[in-house]
Amino acid sequence: MEKIVSLCKRRGFIAPSSEIYGGFESCYDYGFLGALLKNNIKQSWWKTMTQYRDDIVGIDASILMSPKVWQASGHLTAGFADSLVECKKCHHRFRKDYLKEDKCPDCGGQLTEEKKFNLMMKTFVGSIENEAAVTYLRGETCQGIYMNYQFMKNTMRLKIPFGIAQIGKAFRNEITTRYFIFKTREFEQMEMQYFIQPDAKEKKKWFDYWQKERMKWYLDLGIEKENLRFREHRKDELAHYAKRAIDVEYKFPWGWDEIEGIHDRGDWDLSNHSKYSGQDLSYFDEQTKKKFIPHIIETSAGTDRSVLSFLIDAYQEIKEGRTKTTEAKKENEVVLRLDRKLAPIKAAVLPLVKNKKDLVKKSKEVYDLLKLRWMSQYDEVGSIGRRYRRQDEIGTPYTITVDFDSLKNNDVTVRDRDTMKQERVKIKGLVDYLRERLEGR
Ligand code: ATP
Repeated sequence: MEKIVSLCKRRGFIAPSSEIYGGFESCYDYGFLGALLKNNIKQSWWKTMTQYRDDIVGIDASILMSPKVWQASGHLTAGFADSLVECKKCHHRFRKDYLKEDKCPDCGGQLTEEKKFNLMMKTFVGSIENEAAVTYLRGETCQGIYMNYQFMKNTMRLKIPFGIAQIGKAFRNEITTRYFIFKTREFEQMEMQYFIQPDAKEKKKWFDYWQKERMKWYLDLGIEKENLRFREHRKDELAHYAKRAIDVEYKFPWGWDEIEGIHDRGDWDLSNHSKYSGQDLSYFDEQTKKKFIPHIIETSAGTDRSVLSFLIDAYQEIKEGRTKTTEAKKENEVVLRLDRKLAPIKAAVLPLVKNKKDLVKKSKEVYDLLKLRWMSQYDEVGSIGRRYRRQDEIGTPYTITVDFDSLKNNDVTVRDRDTMKQERVKIKGLVDYLRERLEGR
């Protein structure tokens, strides 16, 4: 983990928020490469969920909603609360279920009795801070989906089974934050709610289907099979809304941990919202002429946890050093073997040397050609070996070198990050060459 955190910082992926003030409450900022990686993950999820299918639409709902939403959903009661204990000596607070022993892990002090601590983040809307203006930053994005269930069903002419997907920020006042971006109080979710018939057979069918689909998504984006597994929740650990839950877990450096949950939410949400709002949220089936409250199978992934697992899985150190630079002889070289779809920079253009005008001019022409199509970088600083190393470390799949022969022959050397194979390619055919490798499957 230390290596990942340090790479993220050194190469502009992720750093603590408000760092000049010493950071803030385990909040993190994504730098350029981090934002690119995260956006590529979100893009892939969004396309897989909406563009490649006919039965799911996507939305972007507001973070602030009527506080009534959270009353109806059960988030303001004990349902959305963790058990908290406090050390009587140092007053540090802990989540009861994270403790291995019955004493303070920081100072060994005695702990208080456990009490329930609600995770919703309160905020005030409007200029007067009175109770009437209290609402909450959303604790999960799916409530925004339920608020748009009728709107989408009617305007998009959706017929059951259908889904609504959304990517967005969620907030939880977690008692314990931990492991870098794994557990924070502000995070992003990629959630999809699939509305189905209230029938046991249908539920099993779709639960199994989504379980497989979600695993496939991680595998298709290159996560090693042995680093992923499912874990079914015991009855006593089910969330207040869930009838059944299976987590997708990744093998993190600290052990197996959740990156996504697949939940059978039954009719919990739509029934409660019908009851609390007085609106009829049932579905009328034209064929069977039956009216019912749809049941929901949810897939709920954490974007930040995805970023972390993709980074960890792609991280590789190579002992002998591949680029033969002075540093490479001293320390291991790092290669980030990110899937091409996820890599923040797809191609880097490097002139062999920087003090030759013609070479720089040609390199910039090549760079201009590529940057309109893919996120690319131009780099002339440092030895060529060092520049290769830099690109390997940030996971750039193709590095393109412009040398003296390029001036004569109008061609370049393309180096593949993973195989280290170098190929001479005509500049005229470079875009096609890269398109086939970056986009073709
Ligand atoms: P945990 O048990 O780790 O607290 P959870 O079971 O409460 O997570 P869910 O409510 O199922 O999580 O949320 C769905 C997904 O949202 C999780 O699988 C995770 O990827 C993400 N997520 C939830 N809480 C956090 C958090 N505090 N920080 C980062 N991601 C989170």
